[in-house]
Amino acid sequence: MNLSFSAEYEKFREEVRQFLAENWTEADRAATPDAEGVGAMTGAALRTDDRATEFRRKAIARGYMYRHIPKLYGGGEQPPDPLKATILADEFRRARAPFEIMGQGPSMLAPTLVVHGTEAQKQQFVEGTLLGRIRWCQGYSEPNAGSDLASLRTRGVLEGDHWVVNGQKIWTSNAQDADWMFALIRTEPDAPKHDGITYMLIDMKTPGLTVRPLRQLTGDADFNEVFFDNVRVPKDSIVGERGRGWYVSRSTLKNERALIGNATFARRTFDGLQMMAQFTEVRGAPVIKDPVFRDKLVELEGHLLAAEYNGHRLLTAGGRGEDPGLPGIVTKLHTTTIGYHIGKLAMDMMSDRGCLAPGEQNAPAAGMFGTGYMWYFGMALGGGAPNIQRNVIAERGLGLPRDPRR
Ligand SMILES: Cc1cc2nc3c(=O)[nH]c(=O)nc-3n(C[C@H](O)[C@H](O)[C@H](O)COP(=O)(O)OP(=O)(O)OC[C@H]3O[C@@H](n4cnc5c(N)ncnc54)[C@H](O)[C@@H]3O)c2cc1C
Repeated sequence: MNLSFSAEYEKFREEVRQFLAENWTEADRAATPDAEGVGAMTGAALRTDDRATEFRRKAIARGYMYRHIPKLYGGGEQPPDPLKATILADEFRRARAPFEIMGQGPSMLAPTLVVHGTEAQKQQFVEGTLLGRIRWCQGYSEPNAGSDLASLRTRGVLEGDHWVVNGQKIWTSNAQDADWMFALIRTEPDAPKHDGITYMLIDMKTPGLTVRPLRQLTGDADFNEVFFDNVRVPKDSIVGERGRGWYVSRSTLKNERALIGNATFARRTFDGLQMMAQFTEVRGAPVIKDPVFRDKLVELEGHLLAAEYNGHRLLTAGGRGEDPGLPGIVTKLHTTTIGYHIGKLAMDMMSDRGCLAPGEQNAPAAGMFGTGYMWYFGMALGGGAPNIQRNVIAERGLGLPRDPRR
């Protein structure tokens, strides 16, 4: 099997390299904070300042970013091409240049709005979201509606020109910094549970909306509870039809799985681990020389490559307008499992020093691996818990008997 790129693609790679050399300089690289650390791995430290925005605009104009989004709404609008997408991701990572912002707004909401939003919503939100100017959080989960999301109870009642929203969301990532929330709200309480839900865009500054942080395993507080107390949302702030929000949310969920299942983060962690193994010594020799460690590393890289190639399949399916279906679930489950195992191998390699938190003296790789290890626990759950996903794969994919229901 020949897995090398053809001459046409190598030429494309050269063009991309040239663009990066001309537009993202050594000084830009030096000024990019935490480029190798935790933030780079989780995407949290992505730059959205004016310089990064200017650079992204140029890259978008060249068709190098947000290729699936029409130019009219601020995207790169290019025919789908998984190989070009892979080359771009590789080269931008190598040049430590700002790439697509991978977050709930750009990766999940923007493509959903392009398909289901009104023209006014597309004009108001898509470009600002892609450039990180408008930050979003996702208000789906509730205390009694996680895996069984359609049981959600946060209620919206139409009064004149506004929906009046009351209830509570939980596990809302980044709500503390978000400008807007895309939320699922029950508007037709008498309809069957999947049919009574509306997809709403809610300004986080609306009176009556309170964000309360929740501290997580890593020590950070990126999760929140969000309370709605008579929050008034303009009537036209809904995406798709009233009562049809569940079906709009399927589009967002597909994009969420693609975001979480994207092997880029796992690849960054793996590359970091491989580098660390050259400098970390055990019994007087670099760990990379240890045959047991090498075996484990090679096994992980095999899984990682499989996840990357599955990612190409998903891109191809998406490009053809096909719903990736089960492979999307498989890839998300696989990638988060690999991420966890890469983190675990790094923790084993660093032994007790691996427990040092980011910012602590002598924390190897700025504490990136310990945090990443814990972070992947969460990633496995976000967008659907592993048990549920395994059941879906077994029942729908492999035709096994249904899990006993309570
Ligand atoms: C890192 C992270 C980020 C998140 N960000 C957001 C966000 O921004 N916005 C948002 O709305 N939500 C977010 N969530 C919430 C996430 O979507 C839910 O945690 C997830 O859907 C599971 O729901 P739950 O936590 O209520 O667990 P539950 O549904 O209560 O599940 C608990 C356990 O029971 C198992 N279980 C439940 N039902 C079944 C079944 N039928 N068969 C077999 N096993 C079952 C599950 O697999 C799981 O192990 C985030 C979660 C994480 C971890």
